[in-house]
Amino acid sequence: MKDKIGIVGAGLVGSLLAVILKKKGFQVQVFEKRSDPRKSSVDAGRSINLALSHRGIQPLKLAGVYETIAPFLIPMKGRMMHDETGKLTFQPYGKEGQFINSVSRAQLNQLLIESAEEAGVEVLFDHKCVDIDFDSNIISFENESSFNCDLIVGTDGAFSAVRKKLQFTDRFNFSQHYIEHGYKELCINPKNGEFGLEPNYLHIWPRGNFMLIALPNNDKTFTCTLFFPFEGSPSFEELTGKAEVEAFFTKYFRDAKTHMPDITDQYFNNPTSSLITTKCEPWHKNRTILLGDAAHAIVPFYGQGMNSGFEDVRLFIEMAESENWDWKKVLPDYSAKRKKDADAISELALYNFIEMRDHVGDPNFLKRKKLEAQIQERYPKEWIPLYSMVTFSNMPYSEALRLGKIQKKIMDDVLENEASEINLPEIIERFNTLKRGG
Ligand SMILES: Cc1cc2nc3c(=O)[nH]c(=O)nc-3n(C[C@H](O)[C@H](O)[C@H](O)COP(=O)(O)OP(=O)(O)OC[C@H]3O[C@@H](n4cnc5c(N)ncnc54)[C@H](O)[C@@H]3O)c2cc1C
Repeated sequence: MKDKIGIVGAGLVGSLLAVILKKKGFQVQVFEKRSDPRKSSVDAGRSINLALSHRGIQPLKLAGVYETIAPFLIPMKGRMMHDETGKLTFQPYGKEGQFINSVSRAQLNQLLIESAEEAGVEVLFDHKCVDIDFDSNIISFENESSFNCDLIVGTDGAFSAVRKKLQFTDRFNFSQHYIEHGYKELCINPKNGEFGLEPNYLHIWPRGNFMLIALPNNDKTFTCTLFFPFEGSPSFEELTGKAEVEAFFTKYFRDAKTHMPDITDQYFNNPTSSLITTKCEPWHKNRTILLGDAAHAIVPFYGQGMNSGFEDVRLFIEMAESENWDWKKVLPDYSAKRKKDADAISELALYNFIEMRDHVGDPNFLKRKKLEAQIQERYPKEWIPLYSMVTFSNMPYSEALRLGKIQKKIMDDVLENEASEINLPEIIERFNTLKRGG
């Protein structure tokens, strides 16, 4: 009989992991603090969507669930920027045929839970983990039940209870940081039964220190997210009345506002949420390990939180398989190997916020993009833009970050000497030298 595995948290990462472990022959139980979402819809009326890309798709394929999920995905080919006059500029995400996908978070979670149950996993709702005994491998729940297993996986999100227990163990490091921006979700309803905006794009209204984005949903609505400072001018703190909200949206997001006639009601009815980065190490203790947001919560600006969590699952399974499921070896090896990549995507995600809100509409940024397109067209195998390395490849995030920094330095130098002619062979030679550590 194979090991008994207890997974805490039936979110995106926990339910995907459960499917794969069950298919590998383990006895798997998943404990979720919420009630069964199929019986009580907590998020009724609010549709939250996420961008799913290559790194997230590979593990879904490994679990054999991608075919079930694919019909619910909406491809987004690139960014559609809206300036203050409503003028649109399109920036493709990658080469022809490369795209990311908008998916409803609730629907994806439900499909994964159902796939886990179909595979034979027992999912126990209303089981809020309140304690872990790392020596005897016992998970205790608020409802006073407990569970003893061979391996415990904490996939209970950014405010993980499993991680909180690890914080009481010796030599466990933890840090958290709230950025000065929060977010509020808004909705663009269909117009005459059709999408109000072009559906196959991620729409962005970049406005310097803040931005609005919109991703399409299958019901022809768009979920918009306003990323906005909590304090200062303008900020959430300032928009206290209906008149201020009306004036703010008219000034900065005029074209988006025409699609949201009920903007003030939405603004005041929908919550304002904060954005956190968490880091910790080691991710394991004896036979307990953290995966996904529980190990590394990041800000959402690279669209990689879920994707990196799904990639955690793939890498964890691959390592466990190659080490013959010897948890004593797998847990420390996995933590040690993956940590630098989690740190890298955390850094990239913070940087991408500045790029999205501040640079995408900027002429210098567009010049840089043009230069990069030229280099890439001439040397498509050697020069892969940072966004593509992160979004359309399985390259370790830390390597993508390293190469991205080299590319930035080279492009900074070229753009600084605008007068001199662009010498593409020289650029690529310098890149290859620096890439090799020269
Ligand atoms: C505004 C926003 C936009 C985002 N956009 C994207 C995007 O476009 N692309 C992307 O890849 N990522 C995105 N993310 C990140 C993504 O949502 C997370 O990275 C992802 O949900 C992490 O999955 P998880 O399973 O680790 O955690 P979660 O999805 O948070 O799941 C954790 C689960 O554990 C349960 N739980 C918590 N505590 C306990 C307990 N004590 N006992 C039992 N169960 C418990 C929770 O109820 C939940 O079901 C976004 C995040 C935000 C905030």
